[in-house]
Amino acid sequence: MASILEKHDSEIYELIVKEESRQNGSIRLIPSENYVSKAVMSATGSILTNKYSEGYPGRRYYEGQQITDIVETTAQERAKKLFGVEHVNVQPYSGSIANLGAYLALVEPGETIMGLALPDGGHLTHGWKVSTTGKIFNSVQYSVNPETGRFDFDKIAELAKKHKPKIIITGASAHPREIDFEKFGEIAKDVGAYHIADIAHIAGLVAGGVHKDPVPYSDIVTTTTHKTLRGPRGAMILCKEELAKQVDKSIFPGLQGGPHMHTISAIAVALGEASKPAFKEYARQIIKNAKVLAERLLEHGFELVSGGTDNHLILIDLRNKEIPSKKLSKALDKAKIVTNCNSIPNDPASPFNPSGLRLGTPAITTRGMKEEQAKQIADYINQVTENIDNESVIETVAKEVSELCAQFPVADYFVA
Ligand SMILES: *Cc1c(COP(=O)(O)O)cnc(C)c1O
Repeated sequence: MASILEKHDSEIYELIVKEESRQNGSIRLIPSENYVSKAVMSATGSILTNKYSEGYPGRRYYEGQQITDIVETTAQERAKKLFGVEHVNVQPYSGSIANLGAYLALVEPGETIMGLALPDGGHLTHGWKVSTTGKIFNSVQYSVNPETGRFDFDKIAELAKKHKPKIIITGASAHPREIDFEKFGEIAKDVGAYHIADIAHIAGLVAGGVHKDPVPYSDIVTTTTHKTLRGPRGAMILCKEELAKQVDKSIFPGLQGGPHMHTISAIAVALGEASKPAFKEYARQIIKNAKVLAERLLEHGFELVSGGTDNHLILIDLRNKEIPSKKLSKALDKAKIVTNCNSIPNDPASPFNPSGLRLGTPAITTRGMKEEQAKQIADYINQVTENIDNESVIETVAKEVSELCAQFPVADYFVA
């Protein structure tokens, strides 16, 4: 495949080769990123990209769906089994569309939705003001306690009673603690709201049985498929049978046209991998690695939002280090440690140069790194932080990181 591209379009081929070497030669700590298996990649790059399949299995607008119907049904069945749900829509192009689709399946524009504020770890699509979800709905935002970094359920319940939202959205992009979906479910029930749990980041942890399951406590669960779940870029909406029709209509024809069948086939492959025992071990190791990384960072005097982590993600509060997060993330990138700067709860700084640095362990765990390497990575981060303006130290770290990466090649893995 690669050589065909090389012959046909060397310009793009070379960019892909360079990006591959960047991905393999650096420590990827962005918690939403991962490495998919060659099997997932192969399905993503398959001839299924050639087919138009508007509609749903058995109810398509165009002919020639003998195979695509089975592909989509297989993805649905695997997701239903893995997450224990009655219905699943595997067509959303991304997590953002899945969320908008879920909201529009339940309420009309102008009605009230309530989600976690972006600087407090929520996602743009949870009703943040610059997102369409913050514009077409009456959006009320809850926050975490800025002292503890944790949810204050009494305050959230109070806010819900005051605003009577039609939907309460839970889930996060930057929350280092396990989310108590049951508690949120109760708050939603008390005010007659639907509860939508967005598990984009933690889907792999839920599937691996190392995070509380939102399914019993929510009306709809949305997720991306490319973060801890380790599939292609895409999304799913999971729900009870009674909401199936509304959800499906909301995605197609509500928001989308033809589903991306190559992606759906790759989602099926990823779901197959996630149902194997080895995936449970993977999910456990993600958390073990994150805990060791967090502990070592604390030993180095870093402050962490909420004081640590229960999941795959760590949020450093850099204020005591007096280094702008953008400067640190750029220096780390030079040292081949790839992170992203991130707002922290009650952040006094601007979102373009916020006070936090977000780290996560899904990608390093995929390439086989364990506690020892997690600790080493924390030491590297500290070394760069302490020598932020020292080019030669940063270069030395970069060299050591390259050597570490060479010991943990992003080989193809087969999830047995
Ligand atoms: C990543 C993410 C999304 C959006 O997914 P995209 O595929 O980038 O559109 C939605 N919700 C949460 C909580 C996320 O972390």
